[in-house]
Amino acid sequence: MKDQKIYIIGAGVAGLVAAIELEKAGYTPVILEGSEGIGGRMKTDEVDGFLLDHGFQVLLTAYPEARKYLDFASLNLKYFEPGAIIFGAKDTFIVSDPLRNPLKVVNMAFSHVGSFFDKVKMFSLTQELKKKSLDDIFNEPSISTYQYLKEYGFTEQIITNFFKPFFRGIFLEKDLKTSSRMFEFTFKMFSEGMGAIPANGMIEIPKMLRQRLHSTEFLFNTKVKAIQGTQIDLENGERIQADRIIIATQPDKFMKQLDGQFSPAKSVITLYFSLHKSFMGRAMLGLIPGENHLINNLVFMSDVSSAYSKNGRALLSVSILATDLKEKELIKAVQSELEALSRINAEYFKFVKSYYINYAIPTVDDVKGTIPFTECKISDQVFLAGDYLLNGSINAAMASGRIAAEAVVHSYMPIH
Ligand SMILES: Cc1cc2nc3c(=O)[nH]c(=O)nc-3n(C[C@H](O)[C@H](O)[C@H](O)COP(=O)(O)OP(=O)(O)OC[C@H]3O[C@@H](n4cnc5c(N)ncnc54)[C@H](O)[C@@H]3O)c2cc1C
Repeated sequence: MKDQKIYIIGAGVAGLVAAIELEKAGYTPVILEGSEGIGGRMKTDEVDGFLLDHGFQVLLTAYPEARKYLDFASLNLKYFEPGAIIFGAKDTFIVSDPLRNPLKVVNMAFSHVGSFFDKVKMFSLTQELKKKSLDDIFNEPSISTYQYLKEYGFTEQIITNFFKPFFRGIFLEKDLKTSSRMFEFTFKMFSEGMGAIPANGMIEIPKMLRQRLHSTEFLFNTKVKAIQGTQIDLENGERIQADRIIIATQPDKFMKQLDGQFSPAKSVITLYFSLHKSFMGRAMLGLIPGENHLINNLVFMSDVSSAYSKNGRALLSVSILATDLKEKELIKAVQSELEALSRINAEYFKFVKSYYINYAIPTVDDVKGTIPFTECKISDQVFLAGDYLLNGSINAAMASGRIAAEAVVHSYMPIH
């Protein structure tokens, strides 16, 4: 088995999990990675004593695949306080734990975001989703999240003040058009676990997966240009003959026959600022309801994990969904929005770095939780992995890698 030449394209979470499963089955894969390191979309930079994730990302501890492949204790997870600080037009208020314990949210606090009936509906939704398996959720008819919330009977008030800003930050789109399956999945994950980051940044997740690999070979700065049959052509002109290939990234760029098969991905801009001290003072997400501002959500990363700042200043992450502003203007505009929220002079928010992420999460029309391994096969030797096959999440990326590896293992089984 060891002499089988199995190539995995992409060292993101999907490719790494595929390699783990192939090693378990006795194979020794080679990972071809176009960039200089592992992680794909999950990377963390160190800049001026700060840890900067490539965009604001959260691991949900209820993700079943994450529980399988990660050791949460060794990741030294730091948890977000459930709920959100809502920066409303008139007031700032805290809604603690509405997705886990809605009935415990004090009436006064809840009245800012929704009615008493919204609160009861929130409770019944948590109970309903507890009883539903992930298979049930992903086999349901799909409607837009917005329509789902309306049909469930939630008021426009809670949709505007809570659901929209909260889920915009997850779905990375303004109108909550994303499938209700994804809404139910994410809601269930939030209500059954915690949102967390590894103490030393999101890169620790792919790093931990890599540590589980012993014989896999990595070739970095090795970009695939084209795949024809089992032949891999690299950008550097080399040609590789493979026995099996797992493509653990969206394949249209190097398989021209798949051109145009994928909808444009969701993008996001993350701006990092530093401040002498956090004005939120807790490890909680900040949300801004409404349509007339750039910032959708913000969080002091150094309130969640102190290791995100080693220079004594607080590190603020701000997410923006869409804008035509150029970087300089955007920074200024965001600084003045921050001034309006915090009453701290705009110039005290020192800009650290921006991340313009064009491909943040894929737009998946038919959101799924899993697929049979036969579905990731594009020929007897070539298989697909990556979150775009299922849904845009760490959980889906891991599941897709596992499924593609199963397909490869199965392809070697004798046919009776
Ligand atoms: C800003 C942002 C916020 C997010 N928030 C969350 C969140 O809160 N919770 C959550 O669960 N998920 C979140 N996600 C999604 C999550 O990060 C992804 O689902 C997951 O990382 C995808 O992993 P992947 O292995 O499928 O793909 P990728 O990480 O994209 O890996 C693909 C790899 O293939 C390599 N590659 C591409 N083309 C080539 C080529 N031609 N040759 C060689 N190598 C190639 C790439 O360099 C990359 O390393 C977020 C993503 C972003 C960007």
